Order: sequence, then structure tokens, then C-alpha cells
Amino acid sequence: MYVHDKKEDCCGCTACMTICSVNAITMENDEEGFKYPKINEKKCIHCNMCRKVCDFVKQHDWDALPRPVVYAAKQKSDKERAASQSGGLFAALSDAVLAMGGVVYGAAYDGEWNVIHKRAETKKARNEMRGSKYVQSDMQDTFHRVGEDLKNGRIVLFSGTHCQCAGLKSLLETCRIKTENLYLVDIVCHGVPSPNVYRAFQTFMEKKYSGKIENFNFRNKNKFGWHSHVESTIINGKQYDTKLYVDLFYGHNALRPSCYQCPYKHIVHVTDITISDYWGVEKWAPDFDDNRGISLVLLNTQNGKKLFDLSKAHLDYLKSNTKDCLQPPLQHPFSRPATRDQFWQDFENKPFEYILTHYTNDYGWKTHVKKTIKKTAKTVLPGSAIIFIKKALRKS
Ligand SMILES: Cc1cc2nc3c(=O)[nH]c(=O)nc-3n(C[C@H](O)[C@H](O)[C@H](O)COP(=O)(O)OP(=O)(O)OC[C@H]3O[C@@H](n4cnc5c(N)ncnc54)[C@H](O)[C@@H]3O)c2cc1C
Repeated sequence: MYVHDKKEDCCGCTACMTICSVNAITMENDEEGFKYPKINEKKCIHCNMCRKVCDFVKQHDWDALPRPVVYAAKQKSDKERAASQSGGLFAALSDAVLAMGGVVYGAAYDGEWNVIHKRAETKKARNEMRGSKYVQSDMQDTFHRVGEDLKNGRIVLFSGTHCQCAGLKSLLETCRIKTENLYLVDIVCHGVPSPNVYRAFQTFMEKKYSGKIENFNFRNKNKFGWHSHVESTIINGKQYDTKLYVDLFYGHNALRPSCYQCPYKHIVHVTDITISDYWGVEKWAPDFDDNRGISLVLLNTQNGKKLFDLSKAHLDYLKSNTKDCLQPPLQHPFSRPATRDQFWQDFENKPFEYILTHYTNDYGWKTHVKKTIKKTAKTVLPGSAIIFIKKALRKS
């Protein structure tokens, strides 16, 4: 038995597993590689705390909460900004927490390029968390460790997706753990792709280029510019730049089922600070955007404003507003693609090359021929004929 009957109702945050007083819940991988909380019925005492703590399925009255104070910001130091995905806000905020003797939690790689949440007490360990990893991070026992740190009086910055932060907040409130020393920082989230698809991409690259991955960058802004989205893989000392994984990510077929009904896609966030790319900043502040990364900063609470003030000395920033920054993930979740079921059927039954040919724009001669046919058809044929051709190409 699982905590939720429907996969769409679970974002995998681990609050339910952590609150279980008899350790009856474990996070189990499904066939797509996403983790879901499974209840050991022999151990379960039917207290129902696992369902009570779940924030994802609660009713959220966003209109009752205050709107954030909005900034566009970037680190003054080019070196610091280059080491981060956007404007380097996470590093600036976490530097302030480390300077107070605090601890920082965020997503980093393990030794096998899997993405997991880690704990850091030094800048060196914190630096592993820099850079966006566009795959769902494995939380392991992170929520438990955050609770222990807070109980021990430590100052804590936890960073993660909005659903991870909301799950942690609900857990701490339900367990009555004091949160005055906690800074919750969420990243605006498009949706989290499947670890299995990410792993299949890596295996494909290792096989194709006959070696182990030595480095991987989900979005190489330093080579291609912040506005581009190209991933770089280093194997045998050579760098391969592709858009294969990017296309799978933005195709939305590989996102976690709950992402399509994510309740947290709103301008109001339950965290102290929300950070992301400031897409669209070039429209109202073109001189501020040098294509090396600008962060959007939403200050959601007084605590968030306090931490931002502590970081300001290292930042260049401009005041903005809740209208100019409205990218889609701040308004609504992306819808479940009509191709999702077919994608997963193909993923499970066909070679990964098939997935790349049919679900990316960047792989193999067939893909390029198809694209040319589609483009030509659009200019010379009526709509009904184009739909027919598209269907036929999808089957081929
Ligand atoms: C899956 C995903 C989807 C995203 N979608 C959008 C989007 O649609 N629009 C947008 O503007 N920005 C999006 N971002 C956020 C953006 O890419 C940057 O991560 C963010 O702007 C922080 O940049 P930085 O320079 O301040 O931080 P950096 O110094 O680069 O630090 C990275 C931060 O992101 C966190 N992080 C990295 N990977 C993960 C992960 N897998 N799960 C949880 N936390 C993670 C780290 O813990 C750290 O706090 C997304 C990030 C991820 C991971």
C-alpha cells in the first residue's frame, strides 16, 4: 500500500516517510525511476500522520498570503557568477548563512553523477550544490537531518524545489520543531525529470564516446551564454555539447506525474526566498543583462528580507515587480503531453536511440529529414494534410 493511491498526488518530498514514528514507510522506485512512499502494513499503526503531513494535496489559499518583494540581482564578482547557474544568488545567500556558523542543504552529485540532497558546513562542500541539475533530486534522510540541526540550535538554509520546501515546512510545523533559525530558499521549477531518463542519457553518452563521464553540465552558460540551453558532457578529456537531454526535459514527457498538477506554480511561495533565472529581464533592463546570468529574487517573508540584506554587499540589484517577472512556472503547471504514455512505452521497450530520434530535435539523420518534411509541408499543404503527415512521421 502506498501513502497516496494516485501518483499525481505525490511529489516525493519524503515528509510522510520522515514523520512515521514506527519507520513503516520507505521510498520505492517506480518503473519511471521516481520514488513513492510505500507503507509496510505489518509495521503501520494507522495513526494517519503520513497523510496529515502531506502539503501537496492540501488546499492552498494563495490569495490570502502577501505578494513578494521582487528584485533582479547578480553577484558583483564575475568569477562567483560563472560558478553558478543564474546570477549566483544561492551562493550569496548561503555564504551569509555559513558566515553565521550555519549549515546549508542543497542538490549535489554523488560519486556516480546521481543527484542527491547533501549537507554542507564549508564553502567547498556548498560549492558542490551550485549549478542546476535538471532531474529529481533524491532526498534520502535530509528532512530528518534538517530537523536534528534545528533541534540542536543550528542556523539552517535549505534549498530545493517549492514542493520539497513546502513538504519540509509542513513536517517541521507538524512536529513542532522551531523554525526561527531556518531559511527556506526554493528555486522556481519547470518540473522534475525522471532519474531513469537522465541515467539512460548518460549511459548512451558513455557508450557512444567509449568512456566514463568525467564532468557534466546540464546548462553550459559560460560557453553558450545564459540565454542558451546546451548540455556539456566530458568523456576521455573531450567535451561533447548536445541538446538531447534538454529536448527531453522541455518535451515534458519525462516529468514526474505530480508536476502536471503542481499546486505551487504561483507568484506566492511558502518559502522565505524564491530564486530563479530572471527570464525577460532584458525587456525592461537591457543594460543589466550581459548574458552571463541574472537571478530573479522573490522575498516572501521578513526572514527572507533579512537574509537578502545580509548578502547585498556582494550583489548588484534592481527593484522589479510581480508583473515583469511572470514566467509560466510562476503561473501554472505545464500540462501532461498527449504523447506521455507512448513515450514511456517506447522508453521501456525500445533502444534509447529510438527515444532520441522520436522525442528530440537533435539526433540522427531521420530526425533531420522529418524536420525538413514538416517544414516544407507547412508552407505548401492545407492543415488536415499536415496533421496526417505529422501522425505518419510519429509512427515511422
Ligand atoms: C529541475 C529544475 C527546474 C528549474 N526550472 C526553472 C524554470 O522553469 N525557470 C527558472 O527561472 N529557473 C528554473 N530553475 C532554477 C534555475 O535553473 C537555477 O537553479 C536558479 O536560478 C538558481 O541559480 P543560482 O545561480 O542562484 O544558484 P546556483 O549557485 O547555480 O545553485 C543551484 C541551486 O539550485 C538547487 N538545485 C540544483 N538542482 C536541483 C534539483 N535537482 N532539485 C532541487 N534543487 C536543485 C541547489 O540546491 C542550489 O540551491 C530550475 C532548476 C531546477 C533544478
